[in-house]
Amino acid sequence: MKVTFPHMGYLYVPLRAFFSQLGIEVVVPPPISQDTINLGTRYSPEFACLPLKINIGNFLQAAELGADTVVMAGGIGPCRFGYYAQVQKEILADLGIHLDMIVLEPPQGHWRQLFRGLKSLAANAGPVTVYRAGALAWAKLKVLDKLAKNQFVIRAREKVRGSTTQTWRIILDLVDQADSVQAVYIAAEQGQKLFDRIVLEPHRDVLKVGLVGEIYTLLEPAVNLEIERLLGEMGVEVVQSVYLSNWVMTNLVLHTFHLRNDGEHYQLAAPYLGSFVGGHGLETISTTIFYARSGLDGVIHLAPLTCMPEIVAKSILPQVSVDEDIPVLTFMLDEHSAEAGIQTRLEAFYELLKTRKQRGHKNNIKQIKNESTILGRKSIIESLSWH
Ligand code: SF4
Repeated sequence: MKVTFPHMGYLYVPLRAFFSQLGIEVVVPPPISQDTINLGTRYSPEFACLPLKINIGNFLQAAELGADTVVMAGGIGPCRFGYYAQVQKEILADLGIHLDMIVLEPPQGHWRQLFRGLKSLAANAGPVTVYRAGALAWAKLKVLDKLAKNQFVIRAREKVRGSTTQTWRIILDLVDQADSVQAVYIAAEQGQKLFDRIVLEPHRDVLKVGLVGEIYTLLEPAVNLEIERLLGEMGVEVVQSVYLSNWVMTNLVLHTFHLRNDGEHYQLAAPYLGSFVGGHGLETISTTIFYARSGLDGVIHLAPLTCMPEIVAKSILPQVSVDEDIPVLTFMLDEHSAEAGIQTRLEAFYELLKTRKQRGHKNNIKQIKNESTILGRKSIIESLSWH
């Protein structure tokens, strides 16, 4: 079995570790490029969600490299994600590409299907091997999320433009190559030391902008046209609303054991939205309100064009922006989006936020309980604990 999976940011790092530990050969698709997007777009329905199209591009490129099995997440709820795997299977079959598809359904209400999917993957592995594979993948995910948060703080203050991005790529490789949980923590310490060597302008007056929206668009730089890098290099500290480890913990662990508590999200969004609309639609509203009340300078809302939950959120955000007195900029992205167009709008947004701040708009950032708000190098180091 040669397994592949879709790209989503650095998800390939823990997934490669997980499958390799199970003794499965892994074919990581090439990084998403314009070729990937063109390929996926050519063979997908025009109004399908952008992530579905790019997944198809990933699978076709991985098939060329010898992959014979795709592992996909399943979904439930009022958006199209639950149909992804079936639609993708049909598209690949129409193209004469024979890839087995293993769909890992969410545990809520789908225990048997999930168990069947995992069993077909771990047929030759005992429970201890599965546990070790899971522990390694989880350690990688946790440290990368933590380092990514630090990356946003550092990039906004780097003296030499691009130095944080260059270091981040090295860190990804270090963590990717670690073959035990202990090695992952050592790689993380090394990575942090590399960050510490970056020359900063610690007293630069940076703006702080929250990123909210659909998870794939938030986490995949090739889709959001590296908006976090663009903002960071303009001197903006990004506060990202979704991290994979949080998502896994909330949706796969806490939800399964009925320990998930979305009360705060529902409470904040209640004046505008009274029910779950799928994806992260409701969280987009509640997090925007939270960021406004926590003193962030602005919010950027990211979503794929035609994304149903985020279209609902987009229609509400202008009112939230007025009520909470926070500028909000929405990008609905598709395969035609280009960096130049984004850059121009980001620069205009940046000028707006800067002017507001200079005119004395209060930035009460201290209320945010998030490592991304840590201002100095010393505090950054102190916030790190890999275990
Ligand atoms: S959340 Fe949006 S982009 Fe994702 S599957 Fe649902 S509709 Fe498509």
